[in-house]
Amino acid sequence: MKRILLVNPPIFDFSAYDFWLKPYGVLRVGGYLRNRVELRLFDFLDRFHSSLSGQPGLRTDSWGCGKFPATEVDKPPVLVETRRKFRRYGLPPEVFAEFLRTQPSFDIALIQTSMTYWYPGVSEVLDTLRWISPATRTVLGGVYATICPQHAATLGANFVASGSELAPLWEYLDLQPDLGQPPFWEGYSNLQVGVVKLSDGCPFRCTYCSVPSLYPCFTARPLNEGVESTRLVARLGASNMVFYDDALLFRPHKILIPYLRSIQKQNLRLNFHTPNALNARFMTPELAQILVETGFQQLYLGFESSSAQWQKTTGGKVYPRELERAVDLLVKAGAKRNQLHCYLIVGHPRGCLQDLENSMRFANSVGLRIMLSEFSPIPGTPDGELCRQWIDLDEPLLHNKTVFTRTFLGERPLQDLKDLCKELNGKLS
Ligand code: SF4
Repeated sequence: MKRILLVNPPIFDFSAYDFWLKPYGVLRVGGYLRNRVELRLFDFLDRFHSSLSGQPGLRTDSWGCGKFPATEVDKPPVLVETRRKFRRYGLPPEVFAEFLRTQPSFDIALIQTSMTYWYPGVSEVLDTLRWISPATRTVLGGVYATICPQHAATLGANFVASGSELAPLWEYLDLQPDLGQPPFWEGYSNLQVGVVKLSDGCPFRCTYCSVPSLYPCFTARPLNEGVESTRLVARLGASNMVFYDDALLFRPHKILIPYLRSIQKQNLRLNFHTPNALNARFMTPELAQILVETGFQQLYLGFESSSAQWQKTTGGKVYPRELERAVDLLVKAGAKRNQLHCYLIVGHPRGCLQDLENSMRFANSVGLRIMLSEFSPIPGTPDGELCRQWIDLDEPLLHNKTVFTRTFLGERPLQDLKDLCKELNGKLS
């Protein structure tokens, strides 16, 4: 039997927090190969790894989130002008090296990639594998491998699986998947958080978003796949389930509602979370009711801006009155005000500071806690391509949200917005 290693690399960034980060793509691929190969998982971002037990400062909150272990490292030369500390987040490289030395060698390592600007972590994994396990063939897949395939090819992996179509990967591995299997959650020795994705893609085409490039159209996944994955996560003892859907509330009678009804029937004791924004436009009294009833904890609504002009030019995903209506429906269904949040985009190249301030005051007036999300220029998206006039978009390190927002807005105006955000959120406490 082939031996396959699944790896989730460490992160190199100015900040990182475990807001339910799981390498869902590679776990899903691993699951499809269950019983056909020998599988192992090494997740650098596993905060419950045995090597970290008792480490101070790594507390986990009630919903399974918390800080990663981190070490300050030198900034890559293109980032030296950003006046923030740069860190490596995740298990130390020696723990991975020791793991490889104590295992029989692997035939193949499947490496998850995420944010384009996190590629130094992928490079580190490839270097360690080349050094300790040179016979292991390496494969990259995921967001960075899809958005920047040419750059990913320069890192020296044996194969780059770009896009969401998996047939080329099975051909490269010379293996037939069992598509009825749930993700490889048993790869974790202490699983606290699981992930489910009921659909791929989004019906919108927002000009700043990578989802349309990753998934050309919206498709529902088989209901049974989500239910089986959730049952496995609950059986392994996790109490938090996180949706990675980009349009969770779209076509609810075909997708989300049947899934939640099935979970309710099985009486699985799970808290549900939606770190990806929910689209307020799709909220209905029935949806609001079932979200509250089934134990959705913190609800994050995508808003970005109250400016009608900005919404119109970027895809028109939601307008202020729709946001207000969604909040109303959720509150009537029994959601607590302190559970309701909205994302506003900051540093967008077509945004203006006054509009952002107005948007923040509007969100606050309807009772939403504001989360500022810093804009990241993504190649291939209209707004990312617009940024070529300011940055070298072919260098993924410059897609970093911390870097672009500061370059575009300046440190002082950004700090003023953060102070205003704190003040407004404080009024809701
Ligand atoms: S609605 Fe959200 S997920 Fe869909 S394209 Fe717009 S930003 Fe992306």
